[in-house]
Amino acid sequence: MTTIYQLNSRIIHCQRCPRLARYISEVSAAKKRAFSAWDYWGKPLPGYGDTQARLLIVGLAPAAHGANRTGRMFTGDSSGEFLAQTMHLHGFAEKPYSRNRDDGQELHDAYVTAVVRCAPPENKPLPMEKRNCLPYLAEEIRLLKKVCVILSLGKFAWNGTWEALANLGANLPHPRGAFGHGVESHIRHPLRDREIHLLASYHPSRQNTNTGRLTPAMFQGVFARASEILRHEEE
Ligand code: SF4
Repeated sequence: MTTIYQLNSRIIHCQRCPRLARYISEVSAAKKRAFSAWDYWGKPLPGYGDTQARLLIVGLAPAAHGANRTGRMFTGDSSGEFLAQTMHLHGFAEKPYSRNRDDGQELHDAYVTAVVRCAPPENKPLPMEKRNCLPYLAEEIRLLKKVCVILSLGKFAWNGTWEALANLGANLPHPRGAFGHGVESHIRHPLRDREIHLLASYHPSRQNTNTGRLTPAMFQGVFARASEILRHEEE
């Protein structure tokens, strides 16, 4: 039976999307001037965190000069910092920052992943690339046996999460919940005898956090709700 570590190894070596393989290779060779001394990761990215996690956090895809550079999801850019600060406040992260793979970060009861594992040009994967990559998210949901809350960051991740659950055989509601900040839904877990809760948040991209579309208080509110659900699960 596949383990999460075997899955991660498969992801790192994946070449299903020629356009993305070419792009991450090119961007990693060209580099951003500020990171010219870096040896970019330049490969697909697996998720990372606590393999006993009950909270799964799903993003869109690695950023070209963020996670594609550092080799860890949500690491090395402003989105990652925003996420780490909030996760730390709520006890899901050891450190309030996320800078590189050696920064001592450790996640508690949380696992961070994305719908697409290769940085796409302009953060816009093609529909076929999303389809190619979605089985990895479904496989993560299957292997992370304790997950009971999935927090999707942004509309792309929200839709991808529903599709991954459908791939696992979940009975989705019709219509399924439309994306919005703070939206939540719950369905029967497709593989376990319990519910799975779905939460949505605006993505902590610079575009959202710099314009006030997503404030620290709004983001913390979503994590407070995730914590509340997890507390109830313990009762
Ligand atoms: S986006 Fe996903 S499916 Fe496509 S090459 Fe990268 S890891 Fe493979």
